[in-house]
Amino acid sequence: MKNAKAYSAASATSPLAPTKIMRRDPTEHDVQIEILFCGICHSDLHQVRNEWSGFMPTVYPCVPGHEIVGRVSRVGSAVSKFKPGDLAAVGCMVDSDGTCPECQAGLQQFCPNTTYTYNFPDKHLGGVTYGGYSESIVVEQRFVLHVPSNLTLAGAAPLLCAGITTYSPMDHWGVTKGKKVGVVGLGGLGHMGVKFAHALGAHVVVFTTSPSKKEDALRLGADEVVISRNANEMQKHAGSFDFILDAVSADHDINAYINLLRRDGNITLVGAPEKPLAVAAFGLIMGRRSLSGSPIGGIAETQEMLDFCGQHNITADVEVIPIQKVNEAYERLLKSEVKYRFSIDMASLKSE
Ligand code: NAP
Ligand code: ZN
Repeated sequence: MKNAKAYSAASATSPLAPTKIMRRDPTEHDVQIEILFCGICHSDLHQVRNEWSGFMPTVYPCVPGHEIVGRVSRVGSAVSKFKPGDLAAVGCMVDSDGTCPECQAGLQQFCPNTTYTYNFPDKHLGGVTYGGYSESIVVEQRFVLHVPSNLTLAGAAPLLCAGITTYSPMDHWGVTKGKKVGVVGLGGLGHMGVKFAHALGAHVVVFTTSPSKKEDALRLGADEVVISRNANEMQKHAGSFDFILDAVSADHDINAYINLLRRDGNITLVGAPEKPLAVAAFGLIMGRRSLSGSPIGGIAETQEMLDFCGQHNITADVEVIPIQKVNEAYERLLKSEVKYRFSIDMASLKSE
């Protein structure tokens, strides 16, 4: 067992603060990783503040972080995928049963026995799992990914959640050249959605509440930008979208977007607001439109996404911060002020 420096929250109303946690020694299939960068996902904030109490109540102390990139420092005797010195990445899951139909299909995100990277029962040490706002982590090799060597590491970290969460539904719903695709909310997830939809050749329209993000949206790959609070601008796109990705973290009117879908169009929710969204039945009925959700992606698909990013040189646009600024970063995340993902430089933890 090894002590590791980390940042944790003691309650839903406490700021994140320095702490020490235990990490297990690698067992035969484990990879020990010294963490270099960890992205800040809005899910970290939802969980730290116990905003998903009905679905996934937070156990304190909570060490969040599931956008992890680092370097392998030790491997177990049966590890073949990695050796010390390799780059490695970990996303939202660290284990699953491996035997259920979902795991057999490579869809570990739907396994009933998935272990999430933090705030989930830790079958090795008891208590709950602790995430990437820490010096190191030990993960079974099945859940450790390879990072293409051409990607900047600070920008690669967010691919492990924001990247796969937007790539997977676009793949599932067939986003390709010739499709008209909307991305709602230009945050960490949304800006990755724009990059992927653009790289896949779609006509991309960004819906934002922040007029100041218009230029950025175009630079990131959008063909058009709509200020979503402007009903006239919204109306111009009525009935025209094949697919819309909704990556909004807070309460909003989803019916306004359902009405923009063409016949058989789909809107997929990846954003997970605290409160339920109201859906008007006729928006879906007329036009046989569908509303779905999508969680992260499977391990093989995550590697496929990382390789796609390597080929297209895609990373997140990040603001690198020391961990000491994490509470300030959360406040800015709430104000939609981040452009477009915070990435924590874990070297800053050494001074704690
Ligand atoms: P984020 O960086 O904070 O981005 C959220 C964006 O939503 C903001 O930038 C803003 O975009 C828009 N927004 C915020 N408040 C709004 C409001 N009141 N009305 C309308 N739009 C608003 O968050 P994120 O990290 O991308 O995460 C987004 C959501 O996805 C979170 O709920 C997170 O928990 C969830 N998530 C889900 C999965 C999954 O597996 N499904 C994975 C990761 C995250 P504009 O300024 O452009 O309007
Ligand atoms: Zn996330």
